[in-house]
Amino acid sequence: MNYQNNLPNKDLNLENTYSKLPKSLFSFQNPSKVDNCKMVFFNRELAEELGLNKEFLQSDEGIQFLSGNKILENTTPISQAYAGHQFGHFTMLGDGRAVLLGELISKNKERFDIQIKGSGRTPYSRGGDGKATLGPMLREYIISEGMYGLGIPTTRSLAVISTGEDVVRDELLPGAILDRIAKSHIRVGTFQFARNFCEIEDLKLLADYTLKRHFEVKNYEENPYLYLLNEVIKNQALLISKWQLVGFIHGVMNTDNMLISGETIDYGPCAFMDTYDPNTVFSSIDINGRYAYGNQPKIGAWNLARFAEALLPLLDKDIDKAIKVAEKSLSNYGTLYNKYWENGMRAKLGIFNSEEDDINIISYLLSIMKNYKADYTNTFRDLTLGNLAESEIFKSDDFKKWYKIWEERLIRQDKSRDESKHLMEISNPTIIPRNHKVEEALHAAVTNNDYSSMNELLDVIKNPYDYSNINEEYSKPPKPTSCAYKTYCGT
Ligand code: AMP
Ligand code: MG
Repeated sequence: MNYQNNLPNKDLNLENTYSKLPKSLFSFQNPSKVDNCKMVFFNRELAEELGLNKEFLQSDEGIQFLSGNKILENTTPISQAYAGHQFGHFTMLGDGRAVLLGELISKNKERFDIQIKGSGRTPYSRGGDGKATLGPMLREYIISEGMYGLGIPTTRSLAVISTGEDVVRDELLPGAILDRIAKSHIRVGTFQFARNFCEIEDLKLLADYTLKRHFEVKNYEENPYLYLLNEVIKNQALLISKWQLVGFIHGVMNTDNMLISGETIDYGPCAFMDTYDPNTVFSSIDINGRYAYGNQPKIGAWNLARFAEALLPLLDKDIDKAIKVAEKSLSNYGTLYNKYWENGMRAKLGIFNSEEDDINIISYLLSIMKNYKADYTNTFRDLTLGNLAESEIFKSDDFKKWYKIWEERLIRQDKSRDESKHLMEISNPTIIPRNHKVEEALHAAVTNNDYSSMNELLDVIKNPYDYSNINEEYSKPPKPTSCAYKTYCGT
């Protein structure tokens, strides 16, 4: 597809393998033009990690490329089709405000999508304007960097560009574009789309492409699509266990927001939990608490069942047999999730080996934390530091009883107390992107064009496991307020 002002592709060498798939799965789509684009954030570290040409990306031409005003020659930008269950209801979706510019090959020879979000209307926009606003794009930048710092698989943000446009929401808001890097944007919802709206052959081609891109092995010992299902189950069990271990609440775990690669995507209404409570919900639209912190693991299972349904015709010609093998695979999810989570919790408590009763030690502590409304992150941080003087929870008889059980447990392993402390340090962050700090930084950036707080926050969340340099200001929980923190979808 031709575009008037294209740039040489020599600097990035973008490819477009996805657009070789059946046309039903995407639409050729160039980003809309924007007049007054200005780069407000550029992720130099990410660019370096990927081995991208930083000079080009920060040059005038690079900014034109990142804002979608110019595309690279011989590239074919697309918007991807997908469907999904939103809060349990199946619907047709697709990239309504995003364009996949192409795929880049990193210096480690890995393939990544570069997608531009907020780039105008596409065939999948339905009633929307295809635009994005500055606050939510900066928020995605902060939280995804925070997740990366915490060691959790995530899509990342390469740049945020302000467009100079006013975008109409409840009020006029400054427009922005985010350049997102992901292992791919293939979602559970992409498979649901192929299964429901395309030929079986297209579904098969999508599955083959996904296998080749993310899970390639030379010889499959089983049906390759069953292998795909099993790998995705493993990835999601691991990802969601990591969310739970740091208290991350995704907020909108619809099947279109679940990536096959196992990266976290869609930082709309997400937030980190301060006070430990499994019922915590931040999203303003999650009225029934479907995506509450404590529900996330089982929503993962529900979403994977939707993925398995989409794969059924590829699992066996006989649908009854296909259902049987899918069910068998899905039944492993709970076991895998529990294993990952329990191992993670053991590490948070400095425990190396495994005993059957560990789950009771973990549950007992969590129940005390809930009763005493303890801060999730700081309770583990203080346990790591042996800093048991300050919080109410540590003064309670319940906690003292638990502490004795824990100490006895630590003795029953072949490791020193120092080794346990080290394990706890690398498993318990001292810093998470606290909601009040994120809001403070966003307010200064969006309202006052002051990016100093955001830069400081980004700096602090980069090394959350650094116990030699704890930033007390950023690790403090918010002061109690009468109104609960609310997050909104990133529109
Ligand atoms: P999200 O809540 O970001 O997961 O988006 C859900 C669906 O709505 C996706 O298909 C998006 O592409 C679409 N969408 C979100 N915002 C807009 C917008 N401003 N214009 C068009 N489509 C949008
Ligand atoms: Mg989404």
